Amino acid sequence: MIKLRGHHLLCIQGFQGYGYSDKFQENMKNIHKKIMSNEETIQIVTSPDDICEFCPNLNKGQCKDYIEDQKILKMDTIVLDKILNKDNKKEYKPSELFEIVNNAFREKKDIEDVCIGCMWFCKCLWVKQILDD
Ligand code: SF4
Repeated sequence: MIKLRGHHLLCIQGFQGYGYSDKFQENMKNIHKKIMSNEETIQIVTSPDDICEFCPNLNKGQCKDYIEDQKILKMDTIVLDKILNKDNKKEYKPSELFEIVNNAFREKKDIEDVCIGCMWFCKCLWVKQILDD
């Protein structure tokens, strides 16, 4: 089972190899591969997750930059507020969870609150497929 926080339910779908460090990228690549194979289940968490574990900015359970940490928590909240009232099972198959997520985020305006300001906004495949539709 892979633990993911709210906004990473979007990021993992748009991942194409970028990250904060080699270790971070390698870990995210492994997680991405497992999730996309639909063999691992996902548990949603509201704190640093299996992706954050290898982030060089993680310090004592939060981002070492307080402002960034607050922004990240807000991104998580926006995502979880949109999906958890629809289905709050504890463990999900990736395909069913991404269906819920992607039904909740279909339009440009849906992603703006979460993604504007992200350093990978112009490269993110998940954002690109929504903007291209
Ligand atoms: S643009 Fe950034 S925050 Fe938004 S889904 Fe992509 S990687 Fe995540």
